[in-house]
Amino acid sequence: MTSYPTLTIKQSAEKSVQRRHPWLFSNAVDRVKGAPRSGETVRVVTGKNEFCGFGAYSPSSQIRVRFLSFDPAEMITPEFFRKKLFQAIKKRGSLLSSPLPSVRIVNGESDGLPGLIVDRYADFLVCQFLSAGPEANKTEIVSCLAELCPVAGIYERSDSDVREKEGLPQTKGRLWGKEPGELIQIQEGELSFLVNVKTGHKTGFYLDQRDNRKRVSEYVKEKKVLNCFSYTGGFSLFALQGGADHVTSIDSSEEAVSMIEKNAALNQMPSSRMTTLQEDVFLALRKFRDWNERFDVIVLDPPKFASSGQMVQKAARGYKDINLLALKLLNEDGYLFTFSCSGHIPRSLFQKIVSDAALDAGRAAQITGHMTQAEDHPVSLNFPEGLYLKGLIIRVE
Ligand code: SAH
Repeated sequence: MTSYPTLTIKQSAEKSVQRRHPWLFSNAVDRVKGAPRSGETVRVVTGKNEFCGFGAYSPSSQIRVRFLSFDPAEMITPEFFRKKLFQAIKKRGSLLSSPLPSVRIVNGESDGLPGLIVDRYADFLVCQFLSAGPEANKTEIVSCLAELCPVAGIYERSDSDVREKEGLPQTKGRLWGKEPGELIQIQEGELSFLVNVKTGHKTGFYLDQRDNRKRVSEYVKEKKVLNCFSYTGGFSLFALQGGADHVTSIDSSEEAVSMIEKNAALNQMPSSRMTTLQEDVFLALRKFRDWNERFDVIVLDPPKFASSGQMVQKAARGYKDINLLALKLLNEDGYLFTFSCSGHIPRSLFQKIVSDAALDAGRAAQITGHMTQAEDHPVSLNFPEGLYLKGLIIRVE
């Protein structure tokens, strides 16, 4: 039997552990016996030496331990990772059997594998090893993934700044099998998209918005649509497919804007029904206001404005600003699809911000729907932080 270094927690942390929250913060640690390395498995106990769980130790992170198991009989072996990965993949069910699949197959903490993200794009897997635990077990994880998934290659996109909090350098590159080409073609619903897994955002595509892109397509027949923060055109193409008369897409990134055009061509969308602008949304919305431009449906899917608790107020001002401007630009009976992917902003606060924006815009409005992240981004009940994407469908009078 393997013996693991022992970490004793303070009494104040016992409740969180009993609730099986996967994180143990540095201020909850009373003492550590031995000198565990970054990512090494530790055995966590209470002050009375009662077993709490096994977790991955991260000496430089505020999140000192990420729990892997609360079962005293479990050993954190390659077989453990194989089992967790197998279970996660099995849960993706029919999403994986579609042609050229684009699916998150491992969603970190919520799939019992803290700090590990694995997305499948057609014949390739793209992984992010975001904390010390998965980093230390990378070889085992990659070999299990290669065995469990019939893919051509596995690519790493650990070039995320959250790695710095774990004392890990940013890195990317081929991990196993074939190196992916510059662009991978995937399918979402009946549409095809090109994904740049090497330089695109996150692992290349915003898979979490899959259901919401489809939803938007149901509201746009013969409408004039504005898609703000459009990235590579996900919502824009679904709007065109849904029969929109015209779709204007705005993104500040040159690479994203050029991808919208590629994706539109790939799906034979008529360029006469599209306008693509490389601009700052905050400025573009003001220009449309000054020009008296109006739209029937507006999508607002900004990047994360609050990446920490301290940024919530500033982020709230940003959300209010764009929502206020967008609400003013809507025609009568128009719809706003508005999102926040900031985990630090709860749904109730987001709704309050949008409600304040409507008041200031002088628009009477109702919520006609709530949106969230797609089902391949599940949220473990023990890890409410996993629920980050909130969206509202707002109808204005
Ligand atoms: N809705 C997209 C994902 C949006 S991600 C989808 O379904 O794929 C957020 C996007 O906002 C990124 O592409 C980023 O380049 C862009 N962005 C960030 N700040 C911006 C700004 N101030 N103005 C315009 N675009 C911005």
